[in-house]
Amino acid sequence: MSFVVAIDGPAGVGKGTIAKRVADDLGLITIDTGATYRCLTVAVIDRGIKLDETDKIIELSKEIKIDMTLEEKETKIYLNGRDVTKRIREDDVNNFVSPVSTIREVREEMVRLQRKLAEGKNVIMEGRDIGTVVFPDATVKIFLDASLKERAERRYNQNQETGIDKDLSYEEVYESIKARDYNDRNKPVGALKQADDAILVDTTGKTIEENIKQVEKIIKTRVNL
Ligand code: C5P
Repeated sequence: MSFVVAIDGPAGVGKGTIAKRVADDLGLITIDTGATYRCLTVAVIDRGIKLDETDKIIELSKEIKIDMTLEEKETKIYLNGRDVTKRIREDDVNNFVSPVSTIREVREEMVRLQRKLAEGKNVIMEGRDIGTVVFPDATVKIFLDASLKERAERRYNQNQETGIDKDLSYEEVYESIKARDYNDRNKPVGALKQADDAILVDTTGKTIEENIKQVEKIIKTRVNL
């Protein structure tokens, strides 16, 4: 029987990095649910649709095709056949994705897609509402957290390393994450929230290696690998 490891947490907490390393170590597939909302946001920007044109955004969420493939150990994200792996991380997408993902019908569509992506596989799925909405019966639920200051520092350093949004100052990254936190925690549906039965892992002041070890330990106590 296949199983789901749900990892939820706020922006910049390291979900992506941790999920990817743990998946490599344990032979699991990662599904980044934020990428699905980011793809839709790119499509919204490309078509010049405004954030208050809710009906058009809902329509678009049903039309677009999102694919995730593993190529040389890197997950590539395709929107209607176009490689948007880098594009979805850019700053305009960061600023629009939270309002786009607030629309209830958009969430229903994306959740349907996310469940389909996981079908029949052993996966680590990361996002905001995996343990609460997408897979409330997930075998393992982990909630990653860290202070806002530390998350902004990590994201700023990551930008410098990858070159994506390299020109953003630390203060700009901090404000952007703070705004996203507020939006994500206050959504009427699919809000960022720790599930009652999720295990909290506070990553503040810990190294990435320590966090990976702790997450792997939690998973191994619950599933036989
Ligand atoms: O995880 P990431 O930061 O890439 O997610 C981008 C945005 O997508 C989040 O800020 C959040 O607004 C939205 N999201 C969501 N539900 C998820 C994953 C992401 O609403 N499961």
